[in-house]
Amino acid sequence: MEGALIARDRVGVQDFVLLDSHTSEAAFLNNLRKRYQENLIYTYIGTLLVSVNPYKELDIYTVTQMQLYRGVNFFELPPHLYAIADNAYRVMCSEYNNHFILISGESGAGKTEASKKILQYYAVTCPTTEQLQVVRDRLLLSNPVLEAFGNAKTLRNDNSSRFGKYMDIQFDFKGAPVGGHILSYLIEKSRVVHQNHGERNFHIFYQLLEGGEKDLLCWLGLERNPQKYAYLVQGRCAKVFSINDKNDWKIVRKAFSIIDFTEKDLEHLFGIVASVLHLGNIQFEEDSNGHAIIRNGTQIKWISKVLSPLNVDLAFYARDAVAKAIYGRTFTWLVNKINGSLANKVGSLSGTVIGLLDIYGFEVLDTNSFEQFCINYCNEKLQQLLIEMTLKAEQEEYEMEGIEWEPIPYFNNKIICDLVEQKHKGIISILDEECLRPGEATDLSFLEKLEEKVGDHAHFVTRKLADQKTRKSIDWVDFRLLHYAGEVTYCAVGDFSLMVFQVLCNSKNGIVRDCFLLSELDSRRRPETVATQFKNSLMSLIEILMSKEPSYIRCIKPNENKEPGKFDDCLIRHQVKYLGLMEHLRVRRAGFAYRRKYEHFLRRYKSLCPATWPHWHGPAAEGVERLIKHIGYKPEEYKLGRTKIFIRFPKTLFATEDAFEI
Ligand code: ATP
Ligand code: MG
Repeated sequence: MEGALIARDRVGVQDFVLLDSHTSEAAFLNNLRKRYQENLIYTYIGTLLVSVNPYKELDIYTVTQMQLYRGVNFFELPPHLYAIADNAYRVMCSEYNNHFILISGESGAGKTEASKKILQYYAVTCPTTEQLQVVRDRLLLSNPVLEAFGNAKTLRNDNSSRFGKYMDIQFDFKGAPVGGHILSYLIEKSRVVHQNHGERNFHIFYQLLEGGEKDLLCWLGLERNPQKYAYLVQGRCAKVFSINDKNDWKIVRKAFSIIDFTEKDLEHLFGIVASVLHLGNIQFEEDSNGHAIIRNGTQIKWISKVLSPLNVDLAFYARDAVAKAIYGRTFTWLVNKINGSLANKVGSLSGTVIGLLDIYGFEVLDTNSFEQFCINYCNEKLQQLLIEMTLKAEQEEYEMEGIEWEPIPYFNNKIICDLVEQKHKGIISILDEECLRPGEATDLSFLEKLEEKVGDHAHFVTRKLADQKTRKSIDWVDFRLLHYAGEVTYCAVGDFSLMVFQVLCNSKNGIVRDCFLLSELDSRRRPETVATQFKNSLMSLIEILMSKEPSYIRCIKPNENKEPGKFDDCLIRHQVKYLGLMEHLRVRRAGFAYRRKYEHFLRRYKSLCPATWPHWHGPAAEGVERLIKHIGYKPEEYKLGRTKIFIRFPKTLFATEDAFEI
């Protein structure tokens, strides 16, 4: 007993619900710290898993570990990703319903690693056949390909996902993985043409240069040295200690062959990657009319004909817009192609799915553009989903069931989601309106509109208002949102789609309009701006998720230096706060781990009590009452609602389950 106490004192409790007496933030952090220092990076809050990035390899992802977690009751083993994965899988198999696992947390917190480990878990532990091995390999190998094109080194993470990803793993009725489908969200195209100091472009560029065969590079007209390419030198860190581009190239090439890309596909694909690099090296200078002409490269002089009605700044802008569009569209093509290869070809239709959601975390950079706006909006939506599906739903259920319940206050970020997405009044609607006025709309007019329509919203501030005293002229281009996770100032200059309109409107060249940019204009006339498309894709994602059973993994980043063992209290406290972990704990602690309809409970356990076996003829609620009296539930272990029994601790139900099996 004493030994157990000492051990517990050293390693903390594995479920925050079990923390002694109080649920203070200090006690929470203390427990998390203790465990982190013992390399125990996972802790539960009920069925939600909290994970702290260890920034070192731990010996907890072996096949032996995987097998250990297979088919074992959730709370019987130390907290683990595998337990979450296994639980979702088991419930899916027994109840034939769909699930999703939402993995959230800020950049570098460990979301992508977690989602890969879950996929590996299914690959290793699920039943398979020789025919299905191919599916399994393709599912696994879609990762290196997508990461090559969609991930990059940033200041926060050497392998940062620059796109959102939702992947359905499809299972047949025997529980074998038979296919998959990926939805991708808004790849960060601006990175193709610009990287901050200390950051890189997407991995594929460096992989191709470092690892590409001599003949291939020669055919693509590329030199091996990344320093030669304007799109690769801005971050001044083409070589990164933690990344082996040459080796990664080999992995990606192999993955391509298993995912079934033809040599022709690859020729085109690498051709595009190379053309983006070439495009970036085009330089413009002014002719005597102030028009742009191309300075270098005799073969590509014709491009200046296309771009020459623009001045030099706009020509550079148009060049970058083209590069970004090419890359963005290629990424979409890549995802579609992978989906073709993952499509369930086995033919079993009666399948169920487990969806893995690994989406970019909340992000605050020095300069936050349209892309950060979308990323942070996405995080607001997912937070809203979590609130709706846990905090709100749970408390409403207690109320509906007539369970005595002291409401637990929580911050509901719906107000911020509305600020962004409301019809007519929200920021995206205002942006849409401005985009319908090409040529007239400017950043300033957009900001003026914002101020007029949402200026007095509690979560919105414009720079003009904030800095009125200090700024002399009103050349402000910023607005600030108070997100659930913190304040972010957005710069209206940069990637706003209305900027593309200005380029369009300034170009007198028909070829530019016809070939490329006119189509952009058309799509905006519909009117679907990038922001609206993104909003709609998020809405349908939320719909997809709402129809499934949720599991949650909340990832925490322990420090800003990617350092093992370092637990930065301040940084972690902030994440605990905005991830809503304390509220979650309070609801969990005061609430009930399990609930079942009286009829279901009775049907399952009636054999444990002579009064209910083999048939109980009265109301199910009374039957359950007789049954639990007979098996000896203590009053503090359960409550009886209008239609369901609520059980406070998982162990109570496990004991019943065990008795039932004996
Ligand atoms: P982003 O939002 O930028 O994509 P992320 O949350 O997906 O960030 P990851 O890429 O999963 O972050 O993790 C960042 C790095 O942290 C990994 O490259 C790896 O080095 C380390 N890491 C994360 N999780 C683990 C883990 N469970 N074990 C060991 N190292 C880990
Ligand atoms: Mg990631």
